[in-house]
Amino acid sequence: MVLKAFKLRLYPNKAQRNQILVNFGCVRFVWNQMLNMQIERHKNNKDAKYQNHFAMNNMLKALKLEFPWLKQADSTSLQNINRDLDDAFQRFFNPKLKNGFPKFKSKKNATQSYTTKLVNNNIQIIDKHHFKLPKLGLVYFRAGRLLQGKIKSVTIRINSQNQYEASVLVESENQAFNKTGKVVGIDLGLKDLIITSDGHKETIFKADEEINRKLKIWERKKSRRYELAKQAMAFDKHDKVLVPRTDLKQFPRYQQAKRTVAKLKRYIVNQRKDKLHKLTTKLVKKYDVIVVENLNAKNMMQNHHLAKAIANASWGMLVTLLEYKCAWYGKTLIIVDPENTSRICFECKQKNHEFDNLSQSEWLATREWICPNCYAHLDRDINASKNILAKGLATLN
Ligand SMILES: [Zn+2]
Repeated sequence: MVLKAFKLRLYPNKAQRNQILVNFGCVRFVWNQMLNMQIERHKNNKDAKYQNHFAMNNMLKALKLEFPWLKQADSTSLQNINRDLDDAFQRFFNPKLKNGFPKFKSKKNATQSYTTKLVNNNIQIIDKHHFKLPKLGLVYFRAGRLLQGKIKSVTIRINSQNQYEASVLVESENQAFNKTGKVVGIDLGLKDLIITSDGHKETIFKADEEINRKLKIWERKKSRRYELAKQAMAFDKHDKVLVPRTDLKQFPRYQQAKRTVAKLKRYIVNQRKDKLHKLTTKLVKKYDVIVVENLNAKNMMQNHHLAKAIANASWGMLVTLLEYKCAWYGKTLIIVDPENTSRICFECKQKNHEFDNLSQSEWLATREWICPNCYAHLDRDINASKNILAKGLATLN
């Protein structure tokens, strides 16, 4: 387990901004009350024992009874301020540190902040741009890299430009992978999902036949039941029945088929996801720099096959996964324009103009070629991935 610190920008809505201000106030109030209590105790009895943060947390209950509005605050933030005060006292008690006596906090202090801590799932990452925080609910944020793992604490503050910021402490199993000194270019293909510049190919994921067969059967059932339901509704209308069926929801057999199809599709998608996760982790572990082509240009390739649709989905996900895993594991991902990467000879860097007159299908069918300039014998995809790598490395200098 490693702890990672993230800094991110928060975009709270109006109600959330109010709640944040309430929290600042409550936290400040508790700090001042507890500090005052410690001072008064000492004044009354020089031998009175100092109260540590556990003792102060116990006093919180009484404080909340006396000042019920404290219940508006995120309770973990109140406990956290007790710990901060305890730390301040410990530093003061330590003669080596020469820290001054803890000071009262004022509204006029430059930095207002509060810290919320993970207790019973009160903090959750929802997606790339949202997390759930106690008392605030779903908060929108923007971070430079993907927030992943288990959030241990979040400190919210308003900076000098009046922006809302958060420092987030995340616990995760991930660590940066060791540097290997290896670089790779990756060509994305239809038959092979990826072809690397060192000649490695990975076939595109296909669901096993049993699942595909089941899916086909249920898709057929679904469309048949859909037609039957439509007919039944038309008959009801035509026969002017008392309570005509008008909604597909009234046809349980159709609904059942619909659910089964969705379930099977979800299963296949999850299998594909799982495979892509394993593949991308392997790549990020093995290489320090990974260069892939920009997908937008690739999508313009015309081909209305199912295989193409699957490839599209896989490519998109592959690049997304590589993007965040590279950031996460301390590796580099470079995305380059794929223009001409398949048509230039990697050996002599000359473009093969013999390709200019080929039709789309002829061009796609060309798996290997011999360079008319230097006579190198080239595998179309490996040659492309080598060019992609060279293009990417060129941008590094
Ligand atoms: Zn050549």
